[in-house]
Amino acid sequence: MASDLEIARAAELRPIAAVAARAGIPDAALEPYGKFKAKVSLDFVRAQAGAKQGALVLVTGINPTPAGEGKTTTTIGLGDALNAAGTRTMVCLREPSLGPCFGVKGGATGGGHAQVAPMEEINLHFTGDFHAITSANNLLSAMVDNHLYWGNEAGLDPRRVTWRRALDMNDRALRQIVASLGGVGNGSPREEGFDITVASEVMAVFCLARDLADLQARLGRMVVGARRDGTLVTARDIKADGAMAVLLRDALAPNLVQTLEGNPALVHGGPFANIAHGCNSLIATRLGLSLADVVVTEAGFGADLGGEKFCDIKARIGGIAPSVCVVVVTVRALKMHGGVAKSALGVEDVAAVGRGVVNLARHVENMGKFGVPVVVALNRFTSDTDAEIAAVQRAMETLGTEAVLCTHWSDGGAGAADLAQAVLARIGRGRFAPLYPDDLGLAEKIGVIAREIYRAGSVSFTHAAEVKLARFAQQGFAHLPVCIAKTQSSFSSDPTLLGAPEGHVLTVRDVRLAAGAGFVVAICGDIMTMPGLPRHPAAETIALDSDGLIQGLF
Ligand code: ADP
Ligand code: MG
Repeated sequence: MASDLEIARAAELRPIAAVAARAGIPDAALEPYGKFKAKVSLDFVRAQAGAKQGALVLVTGINPTPAGEGKTTTTIGLGDALNAAGTRTMVCLREPSLGPCFGVKGGATGGGHAQVAPMEEINLHFTGDFHAITSANNLLSAMVDNHLYWGNEAGLDPRRVTWRRALDMNDRALRQIVASLGGVGNGSPREEGFDITVASEVMAVFCLARDLADLQARLGRMVVGARRDGTLVTARDIKADGAMAVLLRDALAPNLVQTLEGNPALVHGGPFANIAHGCNSLIATRLGLSLADVVVTEAGFGADLGGEKFCDIKARIGGIAPSVCVVVVTVRALKMHGGVAKSALGVEDVAAVGRGVVNLARHVENMGKFGVPVVVALNRFTSDTDAEIAAVQRAMETLGTEAVLCTHWSDGGAGAADLAQAVLARIGRGRFAPLYPDDLGLAEKIGVIAREIYRAGSVSFTHAAEVKLARFAQQGFAHLPVCIAKTQSSFSSDPTLLGAPEGHVLTVRDVRLAAGAGFVVAICGDIMTMPGLPRHPAAETIALDSDGLIQGLF
């Protein structure tokens, strides 16, 4: 089997204007970035506002395991299959981060014959959006330190600065640093640190903004720190919001690319799914809905994190509603949930599949709580045996859920034709509603998610978290949705508890206000906002060959 990169390189891509025309985007609305990428102008996006809305299909998955699940690959394969069936379909995905790209080997543009292209460019600098977001983040940092330096008119307590610098790289050396060393001319030393760009609140703001005005307003509401009396200082107080919005203006226009089968895909924005909400920009999704009959979009991590946040954060803030939910699963991942080690996945083990399927069943049941019909996409790996596949399908049948076998990774859209029919048959059959209302208290919102989605027995708050939650409510933020940051590997906050644990205690260690993005983050467990590189990062085997072609990028 050829590598993802080889398959992508062998594909003949259409000029981006031809892809745009098929999607209903006129030439005049395109800002081409080379031959195969283009931004869609915000003027056109605005003019589409009143258009008839297509149906939204949310692709999510079971709790991720090192065996891989294939949500992005399935999103793309399903999009190609729907287009092949004559349904005008747009795929909406997140932009990849350079961190994982050079860290643990693995792309974010799909795989096999279900990819978006040009994959090298999308995975590297693309249209520069992440660089713009990094720059906007760091402009605010520079202005905060400059504000402190020139007299600190806003009264910001240098010990209470919460805004951190950002970099789109896995670099553990920068997690905690001391800034402003070197004498009077460099300011007063203070503790500082870097987050990876996808964990920056600017990224979350970018992905939840409805338009440029909303972007600027949200940037202005972002909290940079507090005064000695605890009152908040915002980016607006530092007068940074306008210049940040200027840096982000061009980036906010969605990026159009194509699948290997020449169908349109919008790839735009990419927040983390733990500290943030984990899905592509609202602007891209809404543009897709105004153009296509069906939009297929992916939420990061498992359905307990990305899926729940898509429904309770993005759909709520953006006024959109998923019509169908696809839960992606692989036999290999179920075997790991059933206790099999990664090294033993090649051996048939129907009993382990049977033990692990409880994880899938729980996610299916959970997504049903949002009022949306659910279908399972069983993403076939060549090592899967017929008996293992039958075991998954039988288990789902007893729950009244269809599990459709898909081979889009090896066969492209044709391999997801049955999944496409199963999805189409479910459009219009549900009635979406978020899990909790805006006016529930912040702690109660966390409780609802813990009970209904994680099946925790109880929630415990550290004293610090309790005090902060009370303060957020006092400061007028009680109406915000909550964004839970916990491990993606388990329903619980313990990454080793696979399968379908229940009755566990969810401990909320800390809470943070993302006033610009518009949610309160509840931190449960150790959450890394600046990842490190593994002992042997993918970067060690990435290089240019004698023709200047990239080698080793997946
Ligand atoms: P996710 O979005 O769930 O993180 P991806 O779609 O990015 O997963 O897939 C992760 C990796 O697994 C990719 O390298 C992809 O090529 C590979 N992959 C996905 N599906 C299959 C499959 N059916 N067979 C083999 N490899 C696959
Ligand atoms: Mg993905």
